[in-house]
Amino acid sequence: MANKHTIEELSYEARTFDPPEEFAAQANVTAEEYDKAAADRIGFWAEKAGRITWDKPFDEVLDWSDAPFAKWYVGGRLNAAYNCVDRHVEAGLGKRVAYHFEGENGDTRTITYSDLLREVSKAANALTELGVKTGDRVAIYMPMIPETVFAMLACARIGAPHTVIFGGFSAHAISDRVKDCGVEFVITADGGYRKGKPSGLKSVVDEAMQECPEVRNVLVVQRTGQDIDWQEGRDLWWHEVVDRQSDEHTAESFDSEHPLYIMYSSGTTGKPKGIMHTTGGYLVGTSYTHWAVFDIKPETDVYWTAADIGWVTGHSYIVYGPLANATTSVLYEGTPDTPHRGRWWEIVEKYKVSVLYCAPTGIRTFMKWGREIPAEYDLSSLRLLGSVGEPINPEAWMWYREVIGGDRCPVVDTWWQTENGNILISPLPGVTATKPGAAMRALPGIVADVYDDEGNSVAPGNGGYLVIKEPWPAMLRTLWGDEERFRKTYWSQYPDVYFAGDGAKIDKDGDIWVLGRVDDVLNVSGHRMSTTEIESALVSHDMVAEAAVVGARDDTTGQAIEAFVILKESADGGGEDVVKELRNHVRAEIGPIATPRSIMVVPDLPKTRSGKIMRRLLKDVAENREIGDVTTLADSSVMDLIQEGMSGDA
Ligand code: ATP
Ligand code: MG
Repeated sequence: MANKHTIEELSYEARTFDPPEEFAAQANVTAEEYDKAAADRIGFWAEKAGRITWDKPFDEVLDWSDAPFAKWYVGGRLNAAYNCVDRHVEAGLGKRVAYHFEGENGDTRTITYSDLLREVSKAANALTELGVKTGDRVAIYMPMIPETVFAMLACARIGAPHTVIFGGFSAHAISDRVKDCGVEFVITADGGYRKGKPSGLKSVVDEAMQECPEVRNVLVVQRTGQDIDWQEGRDLWWHEVVDRQSDEHTAESFDSEHPLYIMYSSGTTGKPKGIMHTTGGYLVGTSYTHWAVFDIKPETDVYWTAADIGWVTGHSYIVYGPLANATTSVLYEGTPDTPHRGRWWEIVEKYKVSVLYCAPTGIRTFMKWGREIPAEYDLSSLRLLGSVGEPINPEAWMWYREVIGGDRCPVVDTWWQTENGNILISPLPGVTATKPGAAMRALPGIVADVYDDEGNSVAPGNGGYLVIKEPWPAMLRTLWGDEERFRKTYWSQYPDVYFAGDGAKIDKDGDIWVLGRVDDVLNVSGHRMSTTEIESALVSHDMVAEAAVVGARDDTTGQAIEAFVILKESADGGGEDVVKELRNHVRAEIGPIATPRSIMVVPDLPKTRSGKIMRRLLKDVAENREIGDVTTLADSSVMDLIQEGMSGDA
């Protein structure tokens, strides 16, 4: 019998995919890794620290005496930029490509590790000349261009923590973040290319700066050449200041716990949190997980995280992890449908990408457009696929595996959060048999569990709250300037464990399924259900590309299920009875309890810039409330369309 204090498990997935033999035979990590880490977790992380070059070795692996404030690799000193760049050049890898940059409008640049060293050194010299000192925070508001990486590494090199702000955020989002972490120096570009047009960035910074008199300089990269306003004394061109610097710079070492960056979370559930990461543990964690989860072979792989650097996935798996591992990556500036809907697959073919990492929202969009598009390209270079950011619906997972991965590439569904710094729960591609839609298992060195309300581990076959029971090297250290919120958000629900805020279930085989946010859990007539499972049932219908489900107040049942769906283009509007058919489909897939009260066909869903569905806004619509905070929404016109549809659909 289901425990009323846990989330009910609605479905069971029987499909499993063993790692292909050939893949397993060459994989970086074998099953023994789990045993090794379980036998001596601290020893395991001590050994993994050997991936990094330390200027001064650490004295102690973990100091947890002031929990929940962790110190990892205590007493060690290192430089993050040195680890990402210089040491590879010193090892003779200077000619290796660090980034194949592809602009949206088709311009390209090849950045080798030697190029990277020169560019980062010049930028570091420039920042120092402009008075940026160790410990000063620097805001970066940029398109996806190589200078963004140069700027981040230049900051790391001089020990100035960066805070990268998504290039699509509003002036208000910038000024909020700049004020919250006391930034006095901003790096931006005139604009970038998005959806075939130059978008303005400097103009947005100008607007934000009206509220930020503390900012003394804005350093501007020229990307598009568009007209911009200029404030003498404050604004400086990157090419005028950086290009004339010496390309030599000696990296100083910093304490292992020196702040590396502050990243504001996506704000899917509310006000973004200024998540602080430090140097040593973060670098060990991102380097290890990038190598283990993506089975990286730096000599031969071409790796592509198709995400924005302004999201933690970009920090850990476009910049720090891949560079620490001397990997060759693709860096793509633009959107997936500009100038055409085959853009990603064209890039995979062109650079022979072997490992691709992206978000479910992208996969569902490609599903909506149809499999004929990727079929036009040669995707045979791919050998491994990853997913991150949201639960991936089993049907989307299967589509990714079959259509993109040619049924030969393992798919790793990786669960983690900005707070975590690196992937925590994921299959290991050469070890773990995968199930469509499951993150499966905590990585070696990570101790995860699912608790009920009382803090007991749930039995297999039940759902509850995801927790991490032991500290890990890349964990956040605090929320910037708000220790109280740090304690309250993550460490107060249960004693001594990290509360992730996500619901999860452990299936009968003991594998972990992340079910989305705790705030999104539905309660229908006393049954607690995850939105994810109902959404996945909708997506398993042939006509549906994407679905979002929310619980709206209901006098009889407590909450009633309201669904919003996007149909595939091949569904051609779905016909008159589409709603009825989809309701019946959910009933057949899961049962009457999960049947949506209403289903609305919508052209789009509200999403954050990292592609997460913002269910709280849909809930506002479903409950006829004023729409809440939309500052981190990628496209706010989506909400207008949905509301119009609502009022029109009597
Ligand atoms: P905020 O905390 O400000 O509301 P956010 O949680 O959306 O924002 P991120 O740190 O970018 O910000 O996202 C982490 C969240 O994304 C996780 O807590 C989880 O809900 C979701 N997530 C990420 N990867 C997965 C995955 N593989 N499976 C299921 N959910 C995932
Ligand atoms: Mg979160």
